[in-house]
Amino acid sequence: MSAVDLPPDTPYGLDHLPYGVFSTEDESPRVGVRVGDLVLDLAPVAAADGIQSAPVFAEPSLNAFLSYGRGHWTAVREWLVDVLTQEANADLVAPHLRPVSEVRLHLPVEVADYVDFYASEHHASNVGRIFRPDGDPLTPNWKHLPIGYHGRAGTVVVSGTDVVRPQGQRRDRGEASPTFGPSTRLDIEAELGFVVATPTGLGQQVGVGAFADHVFGVVLLNDWSARDLQAWEYVPLGPFLGKSFATSISAWVTPLQALEAARVPLPEQDPAPLPYLSGDDLPAYDLDLEVELNGTVVSRPPYASMYWSPAQMLAHLSVNGASLRTGDLFASGTVSGPNREQVGSLLELTLNGAEPVAVGEGTRAFLQDGDTVTLRASATSVGGGRIALGEVTGTIQPATT
Ligand code: MN
Repeated sequence: MSAVDLPPDTPYGLDHLPYGVFSTEDESPRVGVRVGDLVLDLAPVAAADGIQSAPVFAEPSLNAFLSYGRGHWTAVREWLVDVLTQEANADLVAPHLRPVSEVRLHLPVEVADYVDFYASEHHASNVGRIFRPDGDPLTPNWKHLPIGYHGRAGTVVVSGTDVVRPQGQRRDRGEASPTFGPSTRLDIEAELGFVVATPTGLGQQVGVGAFADHVFGVVLLNDWSARDLQAWEYVPLGPFLGKSFATSISAWVTPLQALEAARVPLPEQDPAPLPYLSGDDLPAYDLDLEVELNGTVVSRPPYASMYWSPAQMLAHLSVNGASLRTGDLFASGTVSGPNREQVGSLLELTLNGAEPVAVGEGTRAFLQDGDTVTLRASATSVGGGRIALGEVTGTIQPATT
């Protein structure tokens, strides 16, 4: 027996315990842990059980909790399992459980800086073939460093937030001059996001072996992308307004510890990366992603196919001495496997709109107003079943003109 009745085979069992921020009608946003279809209000339970750091759970983001460091996250996880497994704790726990369907979920992390990488060789090759048909699919630097760009932290939004179609400049094929208007090639990018918790000072570097000391956990992430704006603006400094209007993340942050059984070897890297990007047993994860558009699953990207490890991404983004802050978020880049039905963007799925994909009764090349995109991901759990990351969903609203 335990303190909470869990549905059998729940993807949110005691081997998962993702963190989020929730509110109810009469109480302000605060930290909760998902258990089955319930949210545990952590602050009062921790306070009643004499946990010294209990006030961090009354905060409207995970940042204060994350800043306590890896030893503390581990101790709280062990305490939680203890609290939730012993029937004697039922009286302590029961008054502080809310059905997840009855709470409002908020952005779990106050995002400090946001970086987006480009770590899938299949995605980078597919995009290279579409945008630079006359050149090599991969740029000469691609296998030597994890390519990335700094995105816009202030427009990272929680799952469920509507996305307003962006406006901007594009230059249509064959035209000499650009035009202005709502994007006509609005797309998604299915990605994994990594939440940085432990900060560093200016001039410090995080080696590949220190990944788990600095990264608390993962979210599912949709890097909404306006391909027409992007294609016109990206040379020579990279993505800008085609990406910065919105990035959606799941409401639940899955701790790295919950993904231990999903760890797999990193695909072989040839040529061998420079020493600062090299290490034994670099973290790589086997997660099955799913892209759903208006109720139709259009793709199943496999995270295990990613070329660069998130430990290499973190080592690279800090190797110049750029400091880390609690709440930094870095994303993997679009997850695309080797096959057409495994790609993480419509750009690839429809070959830049040339071959629309079947969605319900109709087809889609790019997103239309009113379309809803939902990303899901699951992985083997340490308990032997499956865990599911929090889903990330969003609906396209017409441009505000
Ligand atoms: Mn991206």
